[in-house]
Amino acid sequence: MKGKSGNYILAGMIAGAVLGAVGGYLWGDFFLSLEFIGTIFLNALKMVVIPLIIASMIVGVTSLGDVRKLGGITWKTILYYLVTTSISVLIGLILVNIIRPGIGVGSIGSFIPEIVAESGKKTLIDVLVGLIPANIIQAASETNVLPLIVFSLLFGGVLTTIGEKGRPVIAFFEGLNAAIMKLVIIILYFAPVGVLALIGSIVAQNRSSLDQLASGMGFYILTVILGLFIHGVIILPIILKIFGKKHPGTYFINMGQALATAFSTASSSATLPLTMELVVEKNRIDNRAASFVLPLGATINMDGTALYEAVAALFIAQIYGVELGAGQQVIVFLTATLASIGAAGIPHAGTVTMVFVLAAVGLPLEGIGLIWAIDWFLDRCRTTVNVWGDAVGAAVIAETAELDGLDVQRRTSA
Ligand code: ASP
Repeated sequence: MKGKSGNYILAGMIAGAVLGAVGGYLWGDFFLSLEFIGTIFLNALKMVVIPLIIASMIVGVTSLGDVRKLGGITWKTILYYLVTTSISVLIGLILVNIIRPGIGVGSIGSFIPEIVAESGKKTLIDVLVGLIPANIIQAASETNVLPLIVFSLLFGGVLTTIGEKGRPVIAFFEGLNAAIMKLVIIILYFAPVGVLALIGSIVAQNRSSLDQLASGMGFYILTVILGLFIHGVIILPIILKIFGKKHPGTYFINMGQALATAFSTASSSATLPLTMELVVEKNRIDNRAASFVLPLGATINMDGTALYEAVAALFIAQIYGVELGAGQQVIVFLTATLASIGAAGIPHAGTVTMVFVLAAVGLPLEGIGLIWAIDWFLDRCRTTVNVWGDAVGAAVIAETAELDGLDVQRRTSA
């Protein structure tokens, strides 16, 4: 993406988001009729996600050379994910204990959304079993990303250990990866219109809960947004500056198109193609770090989701008059971290995996009914922070991991 056209597209996306929000509120029916344009844009992004994840993960691993020397980058990446996610949960817990948004909220939603009820039947063991795909084609067709990542990591790793025979296979995936990234650039040109339609139609659909946004649940929403703000605008930039050695403001602006897409799609996975493109092309992060850290991060590194789940669980406890002591808040801390790792990078996934947090401290699932009404909005906010956390992670790993010591084939991106 060339600098100038990139800026036009970003400006177009921001204008699209603002116009969509205002237009969706004022001319709801018209914007509802534009929903199909947003769906086309979303589908275009989803279209490239599966091949992108497979190709970029395989290329990411193989470009690092022999996997037997991979220790450093793997551990540093996992450490980055865990530390940043823990910090964000902690921020959420501190804020929700200070603000106590659930005290005084009377009405309790009594329904359990269907996808939440479904996932209530799943145990953590099921999640673990699901990591190994019995059928990778089926996993791909269901956009079940985590098992695909596991397969790609294993497959890429093995490729680096079979010498000459692996070369043509690696070259094939490199070509696939480059072609997909080119497709992403083409899709990007349609982003302003896509964002306009997505935001316009979602605001039009949720006009009634906009009033809720403004009143009753205000303190809960405020707590989540304040937490996301502190994590995204203070903590992550500090980490980026110290460990990633990048200017946070410039880095943030360069990520603008991906962040706007995260907000309008509420999906880290759908945003992944843009995140990769901008991290490598605009922020000049080493391709080897980016293609390892970003696809993995889009599914398991969710700072915003983890913060949200902790706040939401305590909010529900406060509404039901359940006092959670220090020990139980530690359980919330641990399960919110795990549940965010288990959440897929798709809309509402964080609220669905929240059943683990609620179950762990014995809170009723019905509590989710109340927060479900405004999940369309908070989902977008937390997804934006999720994507921002991944982008910062790529810079940190590129700077701190010993990429140059590895037996690498440096790639130039297409
Ligand atoms: N929508 C979020 C994402 O894609 C996940 C969540 O629901 O929290 O990152």
